[in-house]
Amino acid sequence: MIKYEIIQVQNILNLLPDKSDGFSAVYTLNPYKGCEHACQYCYVLSEKYVPYKKKEEFFYKIQSKTNAAFLLNELLKKIPQDALIMLGSACDPYQPAERKYKNTRNILEVIYRYKNPVHIMTKSDLILQDIDILSKISAASFLAISFSVISTDEESSLFEPRAPKPSKRFKAMEILSSKGIRCGVAISPLCPYIVKEKTVKDIILRANLSGAKYVFSDDLRLRDVNKERFFAFIKKFYPKLSARYEIIYSKRVSPPAIFSEKINEMIEKMSADLGMDTTLTGKTLPKIKKIQSELFEEK
Ligand code: SF4
Repeated sequence: MIKYEIIQVQNILNLLPDKSDGFSAVYTLNPYKGCEHACQYCYVLSEKYVPYKKKEEFFYKIQSKTNAAFLLNELLKKIPQDALIMLGSACDPYQPAERKYKNTRNILEVIYRYKNPVHIMTKSDLILQDIDILSKISAASFLAISFSVISTDEESSLFEPRAPKPSKRFKAMEILSSKGIRCGVAISPLCPYIVKEKTVKDIILRANLSGAKYVFSDDLRLRDVNKERFFAFIKKFYPKLSARYEIIYSKRVSPPAIFSEKINEMIEKMSADLGMDTTLTGKTLPKIKKIQSELFEEK
């Protein structure tokens, strides 16, 4: 059973080193501690990131950071207006708790006031409840919404047991794109031997039909607690792959490039053919820079 709590935090923004992506800086912001989606590969479940002593509580104890919007309002007075704020690096900002607490919503209202660019990473169609504020941010500065998808609806029940199905994510993408909001698909994580070229191809085509403007991928990273958990999952549902995973991840956190080379080449080719970008900003970067410089001048 999921337990919800309200908490106050000391800090709400984390500066990402060397990840400017064309912006003056990139900050991550997580409206919640814990994530109800409980994805089998969740990288947050590691000594390095997980915020709870009892690690598995991460999927059952969801804490809403109630003072997040207030803190952000104070911080945005001090950081550059062209610093990108990324929502959802260590939780889904549109997990079910958002229906009740509206923490992500309150944060977006503050960001809209300061006009900082925003990137949202989600697996949930609950994002549609904020279509009004998302449209306003998109028109005033820069907004990119990345939906992460690695499988069909059937397989996602195994990998992402409590997240909305990929078909719902594509539907949300279609609706948001139809409002002129920049959406993309994150094919992440690329689980070796499991996320196959055919699946990736289908995801890109479906994303393109749903209005996605960009596509990118990321490797499966496994360390300490999340490695143990994912290995147990592989043993149960893909027993023939157990030995291979033991070898691939015996001395490293992510697999050698050979496991993703072909898929990444395919992503490059398909995105070029379909007129999609392979980065968050892609060809829109000069436009963002122009909007931002105009905003600076207005200040
Ligand atoms: S949505 Fe992201 S943070 Fe949440 S469980 Fe899945 S991988 Fe972890």
